Amino acid sequence: MKTEADLPIADMRIRLLDWYDAEGRSLPWRIRPEDRESGRVADPYAVWLSEIMLQQTTVPHATPYYFKFLERWPAVQDLAAASEDEVFAAWAGLGYYARARNLMACARVVSDAGGAFPSDEAALLALPGIGPYTAAAIRAAAFDLPASVVDGNVERVITRLCALPLPVRHSKPEIKRIAAALASPDRPGDYAQANMDLGATVCTPRSPSCPSCPWQTQCVARAQDNPEAYPVKAAKTARPHRQAVGFAVFRGPQIWLRKRPPRGLLGGMLEVPSTEWCPDVLSDAEAKTHAPFAADWDTRGQVRHVFTHFTLDLQMWRAEAADDWEPETGGWYAVSDMDQLALPSLMKKAVRASL
Ligand code: SF4
Repeated sequence: MKTEADLPIADMRIRLLDWYDAEGRSLPWRIRPEDRESGRVADPYAVWLSEIMLQQTTVPHATPYYFKFLERWPAVQDLAAASEDEVFAAWAGLGYYARARNLMACARVVSDAGGAFPSDEAALLALPGIGPYTAAAIRAAAFDLPASVVDGNVERVITRLCALPLPVRHSKPEIKRIAAALASPDRPGDYAQANMDLGATVCTPRSPSCPSCPWQTQCVARAQDNPEAYPVKAAKTARPHRQAVGFAVFRGPQIWLRKRPPRGLLGGMLEVPSTEWCPDVLSDAEAKTHAPFAADWDTRGQVRHVFTHFTLDLQMWRAEAADDWEPETGGWYAVSDMDQLALPSLMKKAVRASL
């Protein structure tokens, strides 16, 4: 195991930045050294948007959403003026809908304050949906200010570089300290993005490309010839499982959807109603007591969805609503418009399984 005191910091900064200049990724929201030379500057709104989208998904998955949002809402004031339904519909498929709500809340605060994102760490942290990682990433990538940006990629690189013996969640202070010691004060934005790129493209979770790594001569995991042993894995805990019956109510080409409560899982998104999501299987008779109306429910497919903290099996039932039945909440939506609605992936799968 190494600590920051064992590392030739200045040499490693130069090696990483040289590697980034030659091999770093070109990303739509990123200003690379050659972009700066041609006069381009970072757009903090675009950087913020990309960082929020990338919090739980990959660059290839987030990129089309990034372009869609910028085309539709080119400035933070445009996003601030959008309705929740519009933003949720555009966000559908990115998951973690609390982030979409925070995205709007943040856009409104920034817009009300004149439309400029702050560069100060405390001011960034005071904005909805911006935690220490995102604040550091915005400071570095949008303003080229010193900030130690530690994401999952950087954590992997550091645990391997120094052969940290404990799982990441027990090594956070060491990782932060080593990352902060390595961060370059001269090109902070490039350094932060180089470090993330190294983890994303070279020091990958499986089969890292050590011969291409600018830090290979310093890396303990490489010297041990076992980079994949790091980060040390935490003992696995089983993900709980829940089950429910979903009720798809149709009226010809339309389906009845209602809004989930504004807070909590999938908050504010549209859903098909269901029984409570619980560990036990409900009997058909019990499930029927939760149905929106008495009917001869037709059993359709079962949908499995993996959330961060549990898995859900949703057994879909469908029925046609009588002409005189009207729901107390929600409304009727054309099934053919499903892709334009603020329907989370689980609910899209549920509707499809019921057709
Ligand atoms: Fe990762 Fe290999 Fe580089 Fe070590 S030498 S930091 S394991 S890519």
